[in-house]
Amino acid sequence: MSINNHSISPSKVVRGDGAWIKSLDLIIKLCKRPLIIGRSKTTKKTRASLKKDLLLKGIQSISLELDHDCCELDIQNAYLISKKNNCDGIIAAGGGKVLDAGKLIADLLGINCITVPLSASTCAGWTALSNIYTPDGKFVKDVTLKSCPNLLIFDHTIVRTAPPRTLASGMADAVAKWYESSLTSSTSKDGFVQQAVQMARVLRDQIFLNGYQAFKDPLSNSWKIVAEGCALTAGIIGGLGGAQCRTAAAHPIHNGLTQLHFTKKPLHGEIVGLGLLVQLHLEEKNSNTQLPKQAKSQLRDFFSQLNLPISLESICLSNPTSNELLKACKFACNNNSDIHQLPFPINEVDLFEAMKSFKFLPTSSIIGINNN
Ligand SMILES: [Zn+2]
Repeated sequence: MSINNHSISPSKVVRGDGAWIKSLDLIIKLCKRPLIIGRSKTTKKTRASLKKDLLLKGIQSISLELDHDCCELDIQNAYLISKKNNCDGIIAAGGGKVLDAGKLIADLLGINCITVPLSASTCAGWTALSNIYTPDGKFVKDVTLKSCPNLLIFDHTIVRTAPPRTLASGMADAVAKWYESSLTSSTSKDGFVQQAVQMARVLRDQIFLNGYQAFKDPLSNSWKIVAEGCALTAGIIGGLGGAQCRTAAAHPIHNGLTQLHFTKKPLHGEIVGLGLLVQLHLEEKNSNTQLPKQAKSQLRDFFSQLNLPISLESICLSNPTSNELLKACKFACNNNSDIHQLPFPINEVDLFEAMKSFKFLPTSSIIGINNN
């Protein structure tokens, strides 16, 4: 009998308007001298105000700005600063890469971890997984952590102020859960995996129904459903499905594309979304039914409404040549890649051919220009 080890959920999740302030008493129980980590200039003010609130409760925190994506250099630095200052907890406040870095630092130090997503761009605030990148943003590997965070605070008032582009990116990442897991895991005999796959389907349906309204109106109920779906429910699916509920092609294609240079760096979900369209194109070529074709066209329309990239041009590669693209395909098709979970054989040449067909499509937008 095989043993499955799951980290399904943070010990406590506090969500809603004012969740941060309401969580201060919980934070005191978890740490007295936390390291607050963050990165982008746009969230600096928010992080400063979190620090002030902590101080009013008598919690003396240390602030640290990461220099890069979640990379070994930043992790090492944060580890040393945390040790030097006797920090007894990590508060990671930011997007996916900051949350991943915070979880990993806390895991290495064996101290409590509090995640405060400042956007709904990924489910990194929830999961027991960190993606590691090089300092210039190339995907290296993912690391499984001992557990999910001790506390996740999803404050709607704060997350609502994030650029709509981050929510759109979160939607692309969240709908990918269904298209990837249904392909790799729908025949699983494991009840948890079956339930995770069905939850991914419900989440996709909710995002299709509410996504556009959520993108346009952060005060709507649709926004709540979608933002929490992207940042929280997507995490439950990963926790419940565990290691057996694998990705298919969209995430490996993301990992491959991050090996290239960009004139303007796309968000995680923006690249995953494009990877998903390529995945459906591959399915279409390897299937006798019209379903992948219909799904691709439905997703392309949905992504266009949200100004998400639907072509290679729209992810702003600095050198969009065939050689570069082949480099991404080789990375995506390495021996250990989840891309080999696809129900048909695939190699870098097949992938390259599929990617090329996304080269000259009309762009819905160039990222970061029509919206940010
Ligand atoms: Zn993802």
